Amino acid sequence: MLNFDNRYVRELPGEPLRSPLPRQVHGAFWSPIEPTPVAAPRLLAHSREVAAALDLDDAAMASPMLLEALAGNRLLPGMAAYASCYGGHQFGQWAGQLGDGRAILLGEAINRRGERFELQLKGAGPTPYARRADGRAVLRSSLREFLCSEAMHHLGVPTTRALSLVATGETVIRDMFYDGHPVAEPGAIVCRVAPSFIRFGHFELPAARNDLDLLRRLVAFTIDRDFPGFASDTPVEIVRWFTEVCERTGRLIAHWMRVGFVHGVMNTDNMSIIGLTIDYGPYGWVDNFDPGWTPNTTDASSRRYCFARQPAIARWNLERLADALAALLPRPDDLLAGLERYDEAYASDFCTAYAAKLGLREWRHDDAQLLEDLFALMHRAEIDMTAFFRSLALLDPERPQPQLFDDTFYRADLRQRHGPGLAGWLQRYAARLRLDGRPPELRVAAMNAVNPRFVLRNYLAQQAIDRADQGDGQMIHELLEVLRRPYDEQPGREAFSARRPDWARHRAGCSMLSCSS
Ligand code: AMP
Ligand code: MG
Repeated sequence: MLNFDNRYVRELPGEPLRSPLPRQVHGAFWSPIEPTPVAAPRLLAHSREVAAALDLDDAAMASPMLLEALAGNRLLPGMAAYASCYGGHQFGQWAGQLGDGRAILLGEAINRRGERFELQLKGAGPTPYARRADGRAVLRSSLREFLCSEAMHHLGVPTTRALSLVATGETVIRDMFYDGHPVAEPGAIVCRVAPSFIRFGHFELPAARNDLDLLRRLVAFTIDRDFPGFASDTPVEIVRWFTEVCERTGRLIAHWMRVGFVHGVMNTDNMSIIGLTIDYGPYGWVDNFDPGWTPNTTDASSRRYCFARQPAIARWNLERLADALAALLPRPDDLLAGLERYDEAYASDFCTAYAAKLGLREWRHDDAQLLEDLFALMHRAEIDMTAFFRSLALLDPERPQPQLFDDTFYRADLRQRHGPGLAGWLQRYAARLRLDGRPPELRVAAMNAVNPRFVLRNYLAQQAIDRADQGDGQMIHELLEVLRRPYDEQPGREAFSARRPDWARHRAGCSMLSCSS
């Protein structure tokens, strides 16, 4: 059903020991560990696009054997089961060894087109890296990861994917807000899919332990498997590869800033070496535009990972990766060129993306001020980011109509107070559009192709969770379907683009999320 070619375990050193006991793992990048079987697996949803990429047809997706594999109850022929070893900087501090504590890789599937995909079960039981935690995941967080990774893909944002969402039929105990109120919640497992799950932290750990031979092997492996067109045999090539990683990361973050995605936990162990969005935890979508907003309650006081800081944090993370690679190079300063490439790639993609969001053919120097003033206004007036940019395409540059944006405000008093400010900004913007001079039909079509109508608003995910907790999975399918075409008007589905309702403003899961998952 699936063909495997497991290069990671074949070419990188692993541990001989097969045991889930917590331990420090030296000289190896993986530990053999099988998923722990679950009581009563049930396929709640799957992504048809990911299934298709893996050559899994409807019959395959319906087969009990595949369900058993996606639940971690059996391995299919050719699968290998292992957890990978990495370290990382968490919230700015070196945290030492972390590793896949509840993710178990099943090997590398090769599809008919020769494309390679690592399959990974998240929530499949403890591994040597579980550090006494249970290795499991709750339905609410698994559902959020499943839906969001697919939604991000359809938005055009590089991301790991999700093949399946499986309910385990078992409960998992979680103290959601770490306040002494543990609750038994339904458990679930997501099968994540990506060409590579290698993280910055994979490189940091051997570097921190000064195991340069191991580090060199990982660099060679990663470049050879995941970066066609690059080589690892000279320092020049390693720098060129690092520069590519920087560029991809810059482009990724520009996407996040374009769609209003806040990752929430940008630790270096949650940064993908191939430039994908990875590890969907307490992420969130910006509703009312707020640069300082973070969905992660654990980060609420320092706001290290808030919306506006994501570009600077990604750079900081790349600097940590550069630190790790430095020991392999005669002139470590050569890596600075890569970091500069990050700055350029991010800035240029950000400007291109926002020119497109504003419907401008090109980004001119003074557009930065126009955008900055818009951001300041949206922040002060608590305007909904997604709804505002989508509505902008409806504006008539000859006669700008501020009332188009009435529904994008969260508060009537702020709409009153900032109405004149908005009208003034729209006049400036309309003048800029007239100068740009693109025919309206073309401009509107181009804007609608970059300003999504539908994103996985935090409260929508929470509604799907509430219903799934009651045994009703219907909304998972509805959301999955709507989010497949985020840039299309979808008559009859307007409710899925409504701004956050008042009840959700301060509700757990809607504007605040904990790391407990
Ligand atoms: P995260 O902040 O979700 O990226 O997780 C950080 C580290 O904690 C990773 O090494 C995870 O594998 C591990 N981890 C998180 N939750 C669990 C769990 N329930 N069981 C085992 N390990 C976990
Ligand atoms: Mg993680």
